[in-house]
This record gives sequence, C-alpha cells and structure tokens, in this order.
Amino acid sequence: QTALELSGVTKHFPLRRRVTVALDGVDLTVGKGEFVSLLGPSGCGKSTVLRLLAGLEEPTAGQVRVDGRPPAALVGEHRLSVAFQQHALLPWASVAENIALPFRVAGRPVDRARIAELLRLTGLTDFAEARPRQLSGGMCQRAAVARALALDPEVLLLDEPFGSLDAVTRRRLNFELARIWTERRITTLLVTHDVAEAVLLADRVVVLTGRPGRVRHVEEVGLSRPRS
Ligand code: ADP
Ligand code: ADP
Repeated sequence: QTALELSGVTKHFPLRRRVTVALDGVDLTVGKGEFVSLLGPSGCGKSTVLRLLAGLEEPTAGQVRVDGRPPAALVGEHRLSVAFQQHALLPWASVAENIALPFRVAGRPVDRARIAELLRLTGLTDFAEARPRQLSGGMCQRAAVARALALDPEVLLLDEPFGSLDAVTRRRLNFELARIWTERRITTLLVTHDVAEAVLLADRVVVLTGRPGRVRHVEEVGLSRPRS
C-alpha cells in the first residue's frame, strides 16, 4: 500500500528572468509503514521533495499524494508531521511544553502520559522542565523529534534532523531513533547527506540524481537492509 507518492513531479522556482528547475519529472513512492532515506548532493531538490509532501509547496507539474489525497488534507488532520534541521523549539518554554505544543496547535487536551512516554523514549525525562538553551544540540534535536511524534502521526518527514551534530553524537542519536522505530511503524521519509545514517535507519535508500538545474530522477540503490 502506497503512503507517499510523487508522480511526474516537476518544480520550478522562477527568480527574476531565470528559472531554477529543482525537480524535473520525479517519481517516488513510499509504502505504508516504510522508512525511506533520500540521499543526494546539496541542491539536488531533496528539501523540495519534503516541502511538497508537507503541502508547503505546490508542484509546477505532476502529482503529489499522501494516502491518495493532497498533503494538506493530512496536515489539517494532524496525521503528518515534519522535523526540520532548524528545530525551532520555543526558547521560553520547557522541553515538556515544547513537546506538548502540537496538542495545543490541534486544540486537543494535552496527553501528559504521552508527553512522559516521549520524554522517556528520547532520554529527556530528567530535562522535562529545562529550557532549550540549557540543553546540548543533540538534546534539542531529540526534543524536536519527540515533538514531531507527539500526536502519533502516520507520516513523518525528517529533513536533516541531526544536521548540525558532530559524527559521534549523530550516530548515537541514529541508534536511539532506530530503537523508537522498531517500537512503532511510522511511514517516514528522511532526507540526509549522511550515507551511513541513511542505511542505518531505512528499509530502503533512494538517491536523487542529476546536476543542479537539470533533469533529476530517483534511483533505487541496493542498500536496503532486512528488518525484523
Ligand atoms: P537540497 O535539499 O537537495 O539541498 P533543495 O530542494 O533545497 O535541495 O533545492 C533544490 C534547488 O532549488 C536548488 O537549486 C535551490 O537553490 C532551489 N530552490 C529551493 N527552494 C527555492 C526557493 N524557495 N526559491 C528559489 N529557488 C529555490
Ligand atoms: P547529546 O548526545 O544529546 O548531544 P551530550 O553528549 O551533549 O548529549 O551530553 C551527554 C549527556 O550529558 C546527556 O545525555 C545529559 O545526561 C548530560 N547533559 C548534557 N547537557 C547537559 C546540561 N545542560 N545539563 C545537565 N546535563 C547535561
């Protein structure tokens, strides 16, 4: 069953008299419950793919579907969430309040048990009352992932969620994340330029190829690992 689908997707960004072709006829599908990593050189259109799937951009041509519907539908139902590199935690709110934010945005009562579970999953229980600036970069990024998981989304879009971290911290977070994903199957598309991270976390790795401003297509690479 297909959860995420781009078919023949082209995206142009007009800038004055020039047009940047960010994507040109891209096809990509992600199955329900599948974790796919999207690799590719800088500027090849990875973030654009995520922004299209998050309903933050409209394709110039082609179709973008999530569960067979326009992405905005799932966003409106709080069934799709995103965690980008700029984790944008509220600086004046505690870690627990930051993780609870999606409940407030959705106008739902805050599920304290769920917040406690997410704090535990991401190893932040002892820091529930701390402010983001009191935490390390890795802890902020864990909090951002916890926040993205708050409403138990069916679809998660991750754009370089560990982008600013050193390699060792990053790898440790990868292992922590892999553990969370063995507990719950969420359809996930992870954008990264870190090949090891892509392979470590994903059921399947795809590479967005092509030169900047030129044709792009998605290539399957033989880097899938079996999952128990
Ligand atoms: P990646 O995430 O792989 O680094 P992006 O999706 O961010 O690539 O960008 C793909 C191309 O589209 C790049 O050439 C980038 O400069 C261009 N681009 C992305 N967003 C915009 C925008 N809002 N306006 C103009 N050009 C953009
Ligand atoms: P991360 O891998 O999440 O970036 P660090 O390597 O920075 O974490 O820190 C490792 C551990 O040190 C944390 O899990 C935490 O227990 C502790 N720690 C980090 N920052 C702080 C802080 N500001 N106050 C208290 N303990 C901290």
